[in-house]
Amino acid sequence: MLLGVWFGIDNQGKAFLLGCVLLQDETTQSFSWALQAFMQFLRGNHPQTIVTDIDSGLRDAIATELPNTKHVICIWHVLSKLSSWFSLPLGLQYSEFKSEFELLCHLENIEDFENQWNHLVARFGIGADKHVALLFSYRASWPVAYIRGYFLARTMTVDYMKSMDKFMKNILSPHSSFKTFFEQVSVAANVSFHNKERLSYLPIKTCLPLEEHARSILSPYAFNALQQELVLCMQYATTDMANGSYLVRHYNKLEGECLVIWIPDNEQVHCSCKEYEHSGILCRHSLRVLVLKNYFQIPEKYYPLRWRMDSSLVLSDDHIPQDSNDECSETFHSLTSTLYSESLISKERFSYVHRELTQILDIVRNMPVFNETALELAPNNANEL
Ligand SMILES: [Zn+2]
Repeated sequence: MLLGVWFGIDNQGKAFLLGCVLLQDETTQSFSWALQAFMQFLRGNHPQTIVTDIDSGLRDAIATELPNTKHVICIWHVLSKLSSWFSLPLGLQYSEFKSEFELLCHLENIEDFENQWNHLVARFGIGADKHVALLFSYRASWPVAYIRGYFLARTMTVDYMKSMDKFMKNILSPHSSFKTFFEQVSVAANVSFHNKERLSYLPIKTCLPLEEHARSILSPYAFNALQQELVLCMQYATTDMANGSYLVRHYNKLEGECLVIWIPDNEQVHCSCKEYEHSGILCRHSLRVLVLKNYFQIPEKYYPLRWRMDSSLVLSDDHIPQDSNDECSETFHSLTSTLYSESLISKERFSYVHRELTQILDIVRNMPVFNETALELAPNNANEL
């Protein structure tokens, strides 16, 4: 049987299990059935984007079942196929072809991509190759030029791919029985729910108040990504083009010039590179304009829920303890959140809090558990039954 797995991405950039399916074949009908079942789990909330391998049956099923979802073919999957598709027909020319193909994948303009594609196909004489036709027919789904404006939440990174591979290795072995497989899926799903990244101190790298504010809101993973953009934004110059438009260019590179539009009325910033629309992290060009406009905090709307420290995207309703709305729970969350923000102000504070909390955790874990206490704290009190 064939195994299909749906993954999501958590606020630490790690893959987590959304669901999996066993199919007897790879027909459009089977994929449609699987997608319909998946949509029932999502209670009708269709995903913005779905990333898959290249498969015509799956493509047709997605077009029918998820008409409002952008279908993206994983670029790593396309690149992994190149050798088996082209190394034989191209022989010694293959490595040169591969280098040019990889450059072409990252072009940001559709017109440039199509021109370069035609040039590549003509130069290597592969116009009649069926895989060239296949790739071109799927072009709306894999080159950067076509998918740049769609939200992918950093699912094309090497780290994310590695976390998916790790998950698959944990649930699959060549001689797994059905029973073992289901047990492994259950174990792996629970591990991914509780496998939170170890708290780490993230030092400030600029003197911009924007950075310190972002650190108190974003998860360490997302803050790290934004911080890199903030550091680099200082290497960019701005030219006022009037009406809220700015040309932003690197101080010594000619290429990569971007147009940023700033709308003060509702604090909107749009960059022609579309990094925010693609990843949910503001780009260096937009950040450069925010700094220019004397912003000391990034507008709230540019901190998407999925990248926040307190994001609950990973936990479904079924996994949230029923007493999570209790006053006690709210006070606890507020306290820990304040403690975290305060501890990030200096390395000394962070080290102190980390050391003390580790000790408290050890003490709590070693405390005896009495039945009365467990009953009082249990989400469903037995007296209510
Ligand atoms: Zn940009």
